[in-house]
Amino acid sequence: MKIQDILAETRTISFEFFPPRESTGIHTVLEKIESLQVYSPNFISVTYGAGGSTRKFSEELTTKAKAHYDVEVMAHLTCVGHTVKELDEILERLESSAIENIIALRGDLPTNQTKKLTVENGFVHASDLINHINKGYSFGLGAACYPEGHPEAVSFDHDINYTKLKVENGADFLITQLFYDNDDFFRFVDKARAIGIQVPIIPGVLPVLSSNQIRKFTRLCGARIPSDLEMQLVKYENDDEGARAMGVEYATCQVQGLWDSGVSGIHFYVLNRSYSVSKILDNLRLERSLL
Ligand SMILES: Cc1cc2nc3c(=O)[nH]c(=O)nc-3n(C[C@H](O)[C@H](O)[C@H](O)COP(=O)(O)OP(=O)(O)OC[C@H]3O[C@@H](n4cnc5c(N)ncnc54)[C@H](O)[C@@H]3O)c2cc1C
Repeated sequence: MKIQDILAETRTISFEFFPPRESTGIHTVLEKIESLQVYSPNFISVTYGAGGSTRKFSEELTTKAKAHYDVEVMAHLTCVGHTVKELDEILERLESSAIENIIALRGDLPTNQTKKLTVENGFVHASDLINHINKGYSFGLGAACYPEGHPEAVSFDHDINYTKLKVENGADFLITQLFYDNDDFFRFVDKARAIGIQVPIIPGVLPVLSSNQIRKFTRLCGARIPSDLEMQLVKYENDDEGARAMGVEYATCQVQGLWDSGVSGIHFYVLNRSYSVSKILDNLRLERSLL
């Protein structure tokens, strides 16, 4: 079922996983996916390694998850470094594996790679890939958006207008980059609606796993760490277990606030670690019967 059709019926809970570096790791990720099935996700997604090394395992994990579990699977696909011909080959394989949903992205090259971001006969931006998929295929189509603006963007206004272009080119729903202050998300949604973006906007939530990890991630994607969270990160600087427990509390409040505001769904960046997401969903079930 296409995700936009699921969203038309219900508010969604979704989980994002990444592919392993070796084929032998597929089984371990499938076990993680299985361990979260008890929360009845409306869909799960599998990231695509724009750098190259994990690309083929992305497809393998996507199709195996779809075949093994009674859950919709959204494939991530990045256009960086790919020719249109290569992208078409992937799209055709996904189609023949009964994958119905794709989130179409530009992707980033790892900082240690010197390859060019775009190749001859390739696409420059996610909006180009979205346009191509929309014209030639019948996938449900997602796109990324950035409540605090994309780090390379000329300005927030430029960025949100390019988000609008992705929707005009065929994106049926948007999923946000991680953020830690719900007000940033609410402001983004208001601005998006004001410029005519009408599709569902699903907030992406990454529970803190350690102080180091969250500093690294926010630095890479340009997300802000609010002062209350920063104080907690300092407190648990050398205590990953404490940081993880704090991260569960923080994300529980964050998700509760988002859910209460009427969001279309919540997309959890699971990072193949099911513990925190399980705890958060247990907390919410117990407190307010969220699901
Ligand atoms: C939900 C989600 C899932 C993700 N999954 C993956 C994944 O699986 N694999 C992966 O490698 N990365 C993934 N990413 C990261 C993403 O690839 C990076 O954030 C990347 O830098 C931008 O991707 P994009 O699709 O937003 O690109 P784009 O929409 O192309 O935007 C990139 C930059 O170009 C600007 N821009 C956009 N369109 C135009 C235009 N037409 N003309 C000029 N400038 C333009 C934008 O303002 C932005 O600064 C994901 C991000 C999110 C939020």
